[in-house]
Parts: sequence; structure tokens; C-alpha cells
Amino acid sequence: MTIHFVDLHRQYLGLKSQIDSAIQSVIEQSAFIGSPNNPFNAAFEKEFAAYLGVSHCVGCANGTDAIEILLKGMGIGSGDEVLVPALTWISTAEAVANVGARPIFVDILPKLFTIDPDKIKVHLTSRTKAIIPVHLFGLPAEMDQILEIARKNELKVLEDCAQAHGARYRGKMVGTFGNCASFSFYPGKNLGAYGDAGAMVTNDPLLAMQARMIANHGTRDKTNHDFEGRNSRLDGMQAAILSVKLPHLNHWVDARRQVGSWYGKHLFAANIELPVVPAYSEHAFHVFNILSDERNGLQSNLKGRGIETGVHYPLPLPFTNAYRQACDLSSFPVAGGIIGRNLSLPLFPELTEDEVAIVCSCFSPC
Ligand SMILES: *Cc1c(COP(=O)(O)O)cnc(C)c1O
Repeated sequence: MTIHFVDLHRQYLGLKSQIDSAIQSVIEQSAFIGSPNNPFNAAFEKEFAAYLGVSHCVGCANGTDAIEILLKGMGIGSGDEVLVPALTWISTAEAVANVGARPIFVDILPKLFTIDPDKIKVHLTSRTKAIIPVHLFGLPAEMDQILEIARKNELKVLEDCAQAHGARYRGKMVGTFGNCASFSFYPGKNLGAYGDAGAMVTNDPLLAMQARMIANHGTRDKTNHDFEGRNSRLDGMQAAILSVKLPHLNHWVDARRQVGSWYGKHLFAANIELPVVPAYSEHAFHVFNILSDERNGLQSNLKGRGIETGVHYPLPLPFTNAYRQACDLSSFPVAGGIIGRNLSLPLFPELTEDEVAIVCSCFSPC
């Protein structure tokens, strides 16, 4: 028996006829490219904006491009510094470097794993232009404190929501707090397409227009180019698939929380650190991350019983080859402290309590 880390096929089976017919419609209409008049793109963008409660959603090719295009759209570039958490997927920092700015890493909070607001203050300089809080693993970052620092220092806030579709902070959906937010619809994310896909959301109409133009060669309507942009459009087929899936998102996020609480129930006595969820946050449980001093043993024990796990991430970014020369590693005691101890357990909405119990049985000596 195998318990997969993520099993996308189970979800497909539940929606097969709707997904197949959505793909068929895109082919029938040759609506492949996310041009301004593609009805599938227009529909999904409208639906996703309404889901979040924001005024603008612009589809793009992936979640990494979404960050990069939004930074560019906010005028961030050469000579600027952007604060990013030390623990995140590399996209968050790459996007900053790819617009010509400098990613400045900030240590994370113990237990919560999101950017530490008190340590943000330490890294502020006259060049700091923006903060990218990441709602890592699906847990909202400490937005009240982050927004307060941003307001006082006139910084932009771009929320990286790639792992947090459906998470709420003080009752309000993540992606609605900052100047703008980026989403990824990579297949394994909480809302996943059938290929690479992403979106940018904002309440700022000018930023939305700018982002849309950057993602489509600096043009509005192909009659002219106002500037050099790029090609980062959302495929029509991905938009159509996302429209089929979006009505199920809340239910899937609830199911993820249920899996999270089953793990909590079965593992409360295990000698590990479980995820902590502050009372004001609704975790979207993209990843169920635990800490254990016996991580490697646990992981191989689970593997021996056919249970797949992950590590998010083996190295916080300042510790990777890409950044370690430029970083003082002693500035990241909390992020550095998870190295070799973090382990992510199987988690997807269709996982059953029996399967969770099997995973958890590997935590007690047999
Ligand atoms: C997945 C992810 C991204 C990038 O999304 P892609 O669609 O894969 O480009 C960005 N940030 C975080 C935190 C992610 O987990």
C-alpha cells in the first residue's frame, strides 16, 4: 500500500466529466491563449476576484511571474531592497532579483514559520521599498504588524499567497491586505491547474492595468505597445479548468483543515512539534509541517511503510548555494534551527482518517 504525499488523481475522478467537457469547450472554441477577449480567462478572473472580495484579478503564466510582474508594476527595480522571509520557496526571492532589486532575508517566527515582524524593523534601510509576506504552508503571516510597519515606512506590501488559497486572517481572506497579492495554481497547490498557472490580485485599478499589460507585451489591445513587456498569459485551458474547480475550493480547504485536526488528534502524544494556529487565523493547510529531532529516522520509517513525505524546505534560502555568500547566517537562528528537523506529512483534501491513522501509527514504536 502507498499513501501519496499528494494525490491529484482522486480529485480528478470526482470532477472528471466537468473537467473533460471544459477542456473540450476550449478546444472547440480554439480559445487557447489568454488574450483580453478569451471568455474562459475573463470568467475565471471575475470569479476568483469575487471569491477573494477584491476588485481586480489578472491571470498569468505562474506564481513566480505573478510576483515579478507585480513588483515591476509597482515600480520596484534596480537599487531597491525588498524584504522576504528566510523560509519560503525560492520564487519569492528570485522574483525580486529578476526585477533588478535585492532580496533581503528576514528570520521567521518560531512555531509559526512566517516572517518575524520585529526582525523586519532591523533590516529597514533608505532603499527598502516593499515587504513580501508569505502565508507559508497556508498559515497567514502576522499582517497587522506587517501593515503597520509598511504604513509607517511607506513600503508596499505584496502578499505571496501561493500556499494559502482560502486562508483567513482575523476573518478576512489572505490576498486582500496588501497593495496586491500573487497566487500560484501549480497543480499541487490548494487550487491547482493542470499545468503552470498563476494570478495577480489587487484593488488598485492602475496596478491591475499595468500588470495586465506587462504580462501581454506592454499592449492593451495590440494596436500599440506602450512599453516592453513580456509573455506571461494564463492559458485558456487552465482558466477553464480553474473555473470548474473554484466552486469546490472552500470545501477542499475545510477538508484540509479536517486532515490537519486528525493529525493533531492522533499525534498529540508524539514527541514532535505540531503546527500551531493562532486563534485569529484560519490555516489553509497546504502543508502539514512538523519538527522532530528524529526527522531522518522518521522519514525513512514512513518510506519503508509506503508513506511519502516531503521537506519544506531542506534549506532556508540564506543557507542555499544561491545566497549563502551574501548572507550572515547568524541572522537566521530560527530558520536555521529547522534544518534537518522539518518534515511534511501527506495532505490533500481526499485523504481519509484511516489513512491519517496509518501515517500516525508510524510515530509510535512497533
Ligand atoms: C509555489 C510557490 C510559488 C511559485 O509558484 P509557481 O506557480 O510554481 O511559479 C511562489 N511562492 C511560494 C511560497 C510558493 O509555494
